[in-house]
Amino acid sequence: MTGSPSVSRRALLAGVGAVAFCAPSLIGCANREANRDFGGANPFKLGVASGEPGPNGVVLWTRLATVPLSQDPVYVGGMIPKPVRLRWEVAEDEPFTRLAASGEAIAAPEDAHSVHVEVAGLAPGRWYFYRFIAGDAVSPIGRTRTAPGPTDPVDRLRLAVASCSNYEQGYFAGYRHMAEDAPDLCLFLGDYIYAYTTAAAKRAQIVRENGAPEATDLAGYRQRYALYRTDPDLARLHAAAPCLVTWDDHEVDNDYGGDYSALFASEAAFHGRRAAAYQAYWEHMPLAPSRRPRPGSASLPLYRSVSWGRLAEIALLDGRQFRPVQPCGTPPWRGGRLVTDRDCPERLDPARSMLGSAQEAWLYDLFARTRRGWTLIAQDLLMAQLKQRADKGEAAWWTDGWEGYPANRARLIETLAKRRTPNPVVLGGDFHAFWVTDLKADFDDPRAPTVATEFVGTSISALGPPYERFARLLPDNPHMRFFDSRQRGYLRVDVGQTAATCDLRVIADARDPASPVATLRSYRIDDGRPGAVPIAASS
Ligand code: FE
Ligand code: CA
Repeated sequence: MTGSPSVSRRALLAGVGAVAFCAPSLIGCANREANRDFGGANPFKLGVASGEPGPNGVVLWTRLATVPLSQDPVYVGGMIPKPVRLRWEVAEDEPFTRLAASGEAIAAPEDAHSVHVEVAGLAPGRWYFYRFIAGDAVSPIGRTRTAPGPTDPVDRLRLAVASCSNYEQGYFAGYRHMAEDAPDLCLFLGDYIYAYTTAAAKRAQIVRENGAPEATDLAGYRQRYALYRTDPDLARLHAAAPCLVTWDDHEVDNDYGGDYSALFASEAAFHGRRAAAYQAYWEHMPLAPSRRPRPGSASLPLYRSVSWGRLAEIALLDGRQFRPVQPCGTPPWRGGRLVTDRDCPERLDPARSMLGSAQEAWLYDLFARTRRGWTLIAQDLLMAQLKQRADKGEAAWWTDGWEGYPANRARLIETLAKRRTPNPVVLGGDFHAFWVTDLKADFDDPRAPTVATEFVGTSISALGPPYERFARLLPDNPHMRFFDSRQRGYLRVDVGQTAATCDLRVIADARDPASPVATLRSYRIDDGRPGAVPIAASS
């Protein structure tokens, strides 16, 4: 907690140019000079973001790029490949007259001049404004907040929950409406970018161009994140509230699992691509500096939990990094496929863990310990069992989702029941469809107790699966309370002390950047009673 209570902008800018900035032990004066004026260009075109709110701090993010979409290997984002020192400020008020914290940070060229500042010393449970200053350039102002203190009573937590934003397939009106809903916290549950570029044969799907082929290396992934962040609605959302992020497959490659991707023949062939994708993910997300992947490691510690006063515990899971490859794949296609138990007994092997043993152990320990009012489990996929039909009517299962790892799911749900974890609510994405489900101790027995409630949000813009094909499956899956894949949107979740509500929010048309929003369905979960109850839709 530093900084004087009232600092004029002129004084700040003078400070940036002061001799103290030219510490040769850190970076040379020449280096500082190199990016000082950015050739007259705005270096803050990728906006600002914040994340990982704790009771005393938050992570602030920006990335300096004067030419964000450049894939020049030397001048990444248009920047001279030298470190840039910049200043960050957190204030209680938008004019920045009451500074709560401030400091300096280095934007390093090896991290594409991204900046991840871990701010400490803030007050719990309150909103702040923040900005960055580099040379003469000042970033847009972002708004963020801290979590309430661990024992603070809290009346309400509003979450906006998104997944699957495909730049080519639509505009991000959903992100704009999420910002307008004024959430305390945004959750991004995966497929934040799509690494692929739509083939010429499917040109009719394209609403706007990626402007680059499929991302397969660091320059490609950086281009993709930069492209998404130049979208004004996504930039606005990030500037409006802090977020928690986890990933699914398309941040790396379609249907990848652990060390393999669907079309890669060997671990070695895929490793470099995964390393590049993970590095670019960290560079562009408001994640703590400590999560930065070691160069070439293809490893990023992502699963974690965040508490919100006494009201809620939010567990963020990583469903991709630690899983073994999907069962019964046959090269050249190792990804998701529909299998029967006769085709693929391997699927049922109890040793198959989507989360990996370390993450499972961590999660079950959390289930045993947490006694906050609600336990939110945020992850990438539909968790409930979805029984499909093979050609001859035999039960069939899609191996890229939890169905490829059913023993892990059974352990998770059994642990929730056994540990009497308070009010478990699972939130997911990936499906490009809304699902409201009862997570059962035994999915094959409709009388089995409901252990947890699940909401899967539809996509922000990625095209949905055929409605009829999945609607037909509902009679076989009585624990599915609602399904719809026909509209794009997000989830708005209000957690309160005696009940939580979830609004399924839909935009009219993802091909229209000005699309209005509406609520398709609303549900309530009462304290102590798992299972979503439909309520009359509000606005
Ligand atoms: Fe998706
Ligand atoms: Ca996915």
